[in-house]
Amino acid sequence: MPVYPNLFRPLKLPGATLPNRILMGSMHTGLEARPDGMPQLAAFYAERARGGAALIVTGGFSPNDAGELSPHRAQLSTREDVQRHRVIPQAVHDAGGRIVLQVLHSGRYGFHQNIVAPSPIKSGINPNAPRELAAAEIEQTIGDFVRAAVLAQSAGYDGVEVMASEGYLITQFLALRTNQRQDHWGGSLENRMRFACEIVRQTRAATGPDFIIIYRISALDLVEGGLTGAETLEVARAIELAGATILNTGIGWHEARIPTIAQAVPRAGFAWATRRIKQAVNIPVIASNRINTPEIAEELLARGDADMVSLARAMLSDAEFANKARAGDRAGINICIACNQACLDHYFIGQPASCVVNPRAGRESKLIYRKTGKRKTVAVVGGGPAGLSCAAVAAERGHEVVLYEKASELGGQFNLAKKIPGKQEFAESIAYYAERLRRGGVQVRLDHAASQADLTGFDEVVLASGIEPRRPAIPGIDHRSVLGYVELLSGRAQAGNNVVIIGAGGIGFDVALYLLERFSRSTLVAEEFNRHWGIAEDGAVPGGLAAAGMTKPEGRLHIAMLKRSTTPFGNTLGRTTGWVHRAELARNRVKMLKGVEYRRIDDAGVHILLEGKESVLPADTVVLCAGQEPKRELAASHLIGGARQAGELDAKRAMLEGAELAARL
Ligand code: FAD
Ligand code: NAP
Ligand code: SF4
Repeated sequence: MPVYPNLFRPLKLPGATLPNRILMGSMHTGLEARPDGMPQLAAFYAERARGGAALIVTGGFSPNDAGELSPHRAQLSTREDVQRHRVIPQAVHDAGGRIVLQVLHSGRYGFHQNIVAPSPIKSGINPNAPRELAAAEIEQTIGDFVRAAVLAQSAGYDGVEVMASEGYLITQFLALRTNQRQDHWGGSLENRMRFACEIVRQTRAATGPDFIIIYRISALDLVEGGLTGAETLEVARAIELAGATILNTGIGWHEARIPTIAQAVPRAGFAWATRRIKQAVNIPVIASNRINTPEIAEELLARGDADMVSLARAMLSDAEFANKARAGDRAGINICIACNQACLDHYFIGQPASCVVNPRAGRESKLIYRKTGKRKTVAVVGGGPAGLSCAAVAAERGHEVVLYEKASELGGQFNLAKKIPGKQEFAESIAYYAERLRRGGVQVRLDHAASQADLTGFDEVVLASGIEPRRPAIPGIDHRSVLGYVELLSGRAQAGNNVVIIGAGGIGFDVALYLLERFSRSTLVAEEFNRHWGIAEDGAVPGGLAAAGMTKPEGRLHIAMLKRSTTPFGNTLGRTTGWVHRAELARNRVKMLKGVEYRRIDDAGVHILLEGKESVLPADTVVLCAGQEPKRELAASHLIGGARQAGELDAKRAMLEGAELAARL
């Protein structure tokens, strides 16, 4: 009996039986539009098929020019495209898996000049306004969706996923927010869903009964003018009738101001919205969003919330998630920590997707860990992300590795990060890497500050000793009110009720969130999260937005966050997550002052010069979050992570440098 019996129950579909309930959900990898992208995508998906995913969905491909997400062409609309695509289903089938192509028309979300929509209404997140589709063009667009599906079939794909959530074109037809047409494509719900139903109906007719058609339905729009829960169920039933094989669920339009996949979202936090749909239809329904462990997936399936689970980022962080879960090897799974830093955030800066905790993701054909022909002795100083990643790969390649960590536990700064509300997931990465070291036979010496003498006699010495927090030269810096972020987050010191934070980088924001947690709630369960962000579970409310909106803060904590530069607050935070932190701080009325000159710190507080005027910010606690300097006290043959360079350091760079070095040793 498998440890996760519901997860490993086969699922019968017309024409195919899936071996388990794990779908690898669609993700933009950034490779779709690259001339050399297809072979890399083939390697990426094949690795996940070998890893046991029952069914894979590609990133989105547009059915025509207008539907492109950006001016770079990621399309399936010609015979030439079919030739380019063939390598993907071929590689996945050779690996024993199945794959469907996602057909995505961006509508008003396209970042190019030729965008179209049901009505000419601009989105707040796109500088470009769409042109209204003429009735004949709507028919043509349906035809383009069908052509993409037929071409996908001839390229060897097992099916298509029709992307109809997240606010893309099909969703734009469904919602009154974006569809104000007077013809038979607008007005009543029946008219507004005609576009979606025709795409599915005509695709089924053109591809036959066994071709998999997944329809990605928006289970919750989370925008004003979105569908009610009751309307969503009507759409679900109509799509089933039109011939869809499976309903996958998506949550929230991209313009929604409620987090849907960020760390703040509880694990499986939207399963309740999927359950509502499952109860209304007879075809399989897939749950998605923040499902990152096998036990969460199992629980959700056992409760009957869904028939399958969609894991997207969780398959980036561990390509073998499914095989390991089948074997009951929970400790061997590299859990996605929902940071978005190397996956979604990369997409927005035009870089291929990878993963912070799994640097090989997206680099499958480049970063290869070959067994070494020459076993070396390797000393790694520091058990933070850089040292962990380096020691794990070096040992797995066959080297004899000793890791020195001066603290009593592995993890480095991740042990502070895991104390931040929402970043509890970081503990998963520490546990996973510790297990990899154990399995790789790394000799871990905890509570051991390495000295130069310890490092003699090794073939290779890697310094991964991280950073020292910067102590800025402000008069009064030794005042008793002043704390470092390490003292505060490690629990060695407490803050009072009037706090000034010096520095507004990622750690400044995190310290503010940590302090606010005392007065706000934990959002670890769905009900609290929904209350906090103003999500209505009542199916009668348009868009699923509660009238009251976000809950108001309680308490008497006053926080001021300061910085010298004049750039916007939070500009160094992640593209897809920074806004969540900014919203939380704004809601709690954290005072943010930029362009500040620090004069001194004394009993009265922090004296500053701002726009030519002197003032004092009362403070019983001043927390220093003023960046870091490299910690480099020992000589070594290699430097990685913070020890190499403290500026612009994050776990993504630290882990990548560790893995890349270990692959070369
Ligand atoms: P460190 O993590 O600093 O590890 C260095 C290790 O070396 C330490 O464990 C130290 O004890 C050990 N050491 C030092 N000298 C010796 C010696 N002589 N002998 C033995 N051991 C020694 N990054 C992100 O990417 N995303 C985030 O969301 C994020 N959030 C953060 C939140 C907080 C509150 C903090 C503090 C950091 C956060 N970071 C985040 C930053 C991230 O943790 C660091 O970039 C990363 O830990 C750097 O890794 P490292 O291995 O280079 O250094
Ligand atoms: P940081 O992002 O470099 O920010 C340092 C802050 O200190 C800045 O606001 C800087 O702003 C200020 N500062 C620098 N020198 C100063 C001085 N001499 N006196 C006073 N203020 C000074 O560094 P961090 O916040 O320590 O974060 C470290 C790394 O961890 C970052 O690179 C970040 O990527 C990572 N991290 C990421 C996240 C995340 O959510 N992704 C969260 C936490 C940490 P001014 O120069 O304007 O004053
Ligand atoms: Fe998950 Fe972060 Fe990796 Fe993205 S980068 S897959 S969010 S761990």
